[in-house]
Amino acid sequence: MSTIDHPLHLHILGSGSKGNCALVEGPQGLIMIDNGFSRREVLSRMHDLGLNEGDVRALVLTHEHTDHVSGISVWCRAFPVELYASVGTPGMRKYLAELPFCEFIPGTSFIIAGVTVATFGTSHDVTNPVGFRFSCDGDVIGYATDTGVLPERALATLADARILALESNHDVPMLRTGPYPRYLQDRIISERGHLSNAQAAKAATQLVTDHTEQLIAMHISQENNRPSLAVRSFAEALGAQLDNDLGSSATLARPGDTPDLHIRAAGQNRPISIW
Ligand SMILES: [Zn+2]
Ligand SMILES: [Zn+2]
Repeated sequence: MSTIDHPLHLHILGSGSKGNCALVEGPQGLIMIDNGFSRREVLSRMHDLGLNEGDVRALVLTHEHTDHVSGISVWCRAFPVELYASVGTPGMRKYLAELPFCEFIPGTSFIIAGVTVATFGTSHDVTNPVGFRFSCDGDVIGYATDTGVLPERALATLADARILALESNHDVPMLRTGPYPRYLQDRIISERGHLSNAQAAKAATQLVTDHTEQLIAMHISQENNRPSLAVRSFAEALGAQLDNDLGSSATLARPGDTPDLHIRAAGQNRPISIW
């Protein structure tokens, strides 16, 4: 158990195709990542985690799919914040185009409330999708969801984070034998779809270092995956042991002063805080 008080924390209000919203907590406030829930739902989940809507300093978008942006207009009317999205993203939806977004080029960085936000391009069927690396006083959070593959630049930017939130969307056998029509299966598996458990686990072997303490499986499909499958897939790739028979979390015990690595899954309905 680490006794260090880290400057950054990650709060995941919900993750998956029915809505996404997370918050990076830094020394000067909160940075919201995506907002794909109703205002009431976001407020309720923030309050469950002890967070205050008045502390949100800015909102950054990964991409324009509805499960990531549907709550933004209503949220901004009630709580105006600085808005950031990649070039072209706001123009893809009328209700986003009406908002005063700062548009950035993927690969560029900016500073919000003392936190450096580095962006990198991901690979998804939208305009300039991105992931993020948040850093402050040597502490780092990596965040990547909704990507069919992780480009080299993404891997380089995500590596060595203390907290890594990484998409582990589907189990390929479940997807191929599941209820989705073939064209949708093909879209999810494509290079501009979503990362499978196996792809995410392989990437994790490149991204996780001795500094990595928390690995979170993100955007888990409710039809084509199970949280325990995603956790197990990460655990097997990294040599971690499951914490219980349910497979809901796993730990890679490390010797000496090196912190252990904890692996778990973010859910669609239950908010979690990662310290
Ligand atoms: Zn999504
Ligand atoms: Zn998407």
